[in-house]
Amino acid sequence: MSVKLPDGSERAVPEGATVLDVATAIGPRLAQAALAGSVNGTLVDLGTVVGNGDEVAIITSKSPEALHIVRHSAAHVMAEAVKDLFPTAKFGIGPAIEDGFYYDFDVDRPFTPEDLEAIEARMREIVAEEKTFTRGVLDKLEAWDAFDGQPYKRELIEDLPETGTISIYTQGAFTDLCRGPHVPSTGLLGAFKLMKLAGAYWRGDSTRPMLQRIYGTAWLTQRDLDAYLTRLEEAEKRDHRKLGKELDLFSFHEIAGAGLPLYHPKGARILRLLQEWLRAELYRRGYVEAITPHMYKADVWKTSGHYDFYRENMYFFEIDEGDGKVNEYGIKPMNCPGHVMIFDNDVRSYRDLPMRIFEFGTVYRHEMSGVVHGLMRARGFTQDDAHIFCAPNQVHDEVIKMLELVDYIMGDVFGFEYSAEISTRPTEKSIGADDMWELATKSLMGACESRGLAYEINEGDGAFYGPKIDIKLKDAIGRTWQCSTIQVDFNFPERFGLTYRTAENSEAVPFMLHRTILGSMERFLGILIEHYAGAFPTWLAPVQAVVIPISDRHLDYAESTRRDLEAAGVRAEVYAENEPMRVKIAKAQQQKVPYMLIVGDKEVESGAVGVRERTAGDIGAMAVDEFAKRVQSEKP
Ligand SMILES: [Zn+2]
Ligand SMILES: [Zn+2]
Repeated sequence: MSVKLPDGSERAVPEGATVLDVATAIGPRLAQAALAGSVNGTLVDLGTVVGNGDEVAIITSKSPEALHIVRHSAAHVMAEAVKDLFPTAKFGIGPAIEDGFYYDFDVDRPFTPEDLEAIEARMREIVAEEKTFTRGVLDKLEAWDAFDGQPYKRELIEDLPETGTISIYTQGAFTDLCRGPHVPSTGLLGAFKLMKLAGAYWRGDSTRPMLQRIYGTAWLTQRDLDAYLTRLEEAEKRDHRKLGKELDLFSFHEIAGAGLPLYHPKGARILRLLQEWLRAELYRRGYVEAITPHMYKADVWKTSGHYDFYRENMYFFEIDEGDGKVNEYGIKPMNCPGHVMIFDNDVRSYRDLPMRIFEFGTVYRHEMSGVVHGLMRARGFTQDDAHIFCAPNQVHDEVIKMLELVDYIMGDVFGFEYSAEISTRPTEKSIGADDMWELATKSLMGACESRGLAYEINEGDGAFYGPKIDIKLKDAIGRTWQCSTIQVDFNFPERFGLTYRTAENSEAVPFMLHRTILGSMERFLGILIEHYAGAFPTWLAPVQAVVIPISDRHLDYAESTRRDLEAAGVRAEVYAENEPMRVKIAKAQQQKVPYMLIVGDKEVESGAVGVRERTAGDIGAMAVDEFAKRVQSEKP
């Protein structure tokens, strides 16, 4: 018989051949590197018998599926180690997750950090023993018997269909209910580490028992594992919540509520600097600015569709109008309705299009207190939001302009690498004629192509009212963040009955593009804090220079220097405390201030400052106005 290989060729193999036999037939090196296989698109073990005409692929460490299989296999090894050390443990589930795996256990007492060490040590022994993973197949009754004393496994078995087979995997003395596949031997699982403990309700249900969850990470090589651990360490050092406190940028208060940050003067300064810079860029690019209310009557949200489709993410309340009426209001989760009402406030003609309305609009969305995360996921945030009302044939050019703006901001100004994804029409629920979808989707793709921006397609992942482009940034330590979105919308203009007069003097419905570049300004601040590890470029630093007098007799000069700098548009502070100079320098370093200006007798005499750059160190003396010019030149 023969099987089909991924390159389209056929390979003759004897009857009863396994995936491993196919690998061996292709070449001994491939057989050596094989971790698992795929038969007709389904992942299987190397021991799986192939059939005549099957499409067979070999999974090696280079395959994208390999990590998942390795991580899931590591979860089994962890479970075996727990079984050895805690013989009465009951087992929950143990899936692979992003970057690693976990397993849930019901044990007599919570695990301790020492337990974690012991479990990890036992895992290393199991790996060294190179135990084979063997697959078994049982019917439901046999499986029930096999998991005697394991109530959670039995509950899972109960939920399986009455007929059909159930697969189990055994390595050493441990057997697990599992679909597979697994690596052939525990010996292939060297690069792992147990990370942390957590409590987790069985099946995520707070009325069921709380199990002990152990998280681990596993990689294909020790080098990958080390790189991952370094990345984690680096991410921890850069954590915006930690740096936000150290740099006095913002705080959270239990009494204020979850996910509601308060921006201190320095944090507010950065946000305002970002806005002032971006506002100027947008005016230059033909945008007009609007300011719209933070709340509207529920009627607006009924027209927009939010009342029916987005309600659980919003805050609604009642207001006594004082005229005997009580109206329901909702706080805005998006800025779109306001901009739509502005467009609709006058008769519009094709000459008014494209109309680009932007707003730094603060919106509020309901998030559960458990999922809010610093500035990255908050309940209140400000979007650099814009809506472009245009004719269908203007979509392409408008999207190109937006992509140019994205490139300028993310690439030129902030130095991020970025990539694009286009989400297309959902297969199930969506509105709009086929030709509108096609025109819009083609416009987005064409715009990316003419900018030379490669994109991936997220088939069927668009909103029900139109396709979109998402831009993903890669930060200084290789993490990706989704920020900019460009969304075509067929729905809103229709719902609000928007029209414009065409050149032929007929009435038409405009297209509407929603777009944010930074996304949430506050979340973007969080990303910048982590990207720069708190050391903002000079133009965004809340304090650009500190003046450090060598002794008290230089205080007056330091103060007049600060005033001169402020007058020249440089944000400066004087460190006037009676502290040794090295303490002040250390403080400025810790605050990541771009420049330190040392002033002593020599500087007073010559009307200069001794300039220390944060990373380069001493760069010599400069006249105050010369220094101010240098700072100004660092603007984007
Ligand atoms: Zn498994
Ligand atoms: Zn919008």
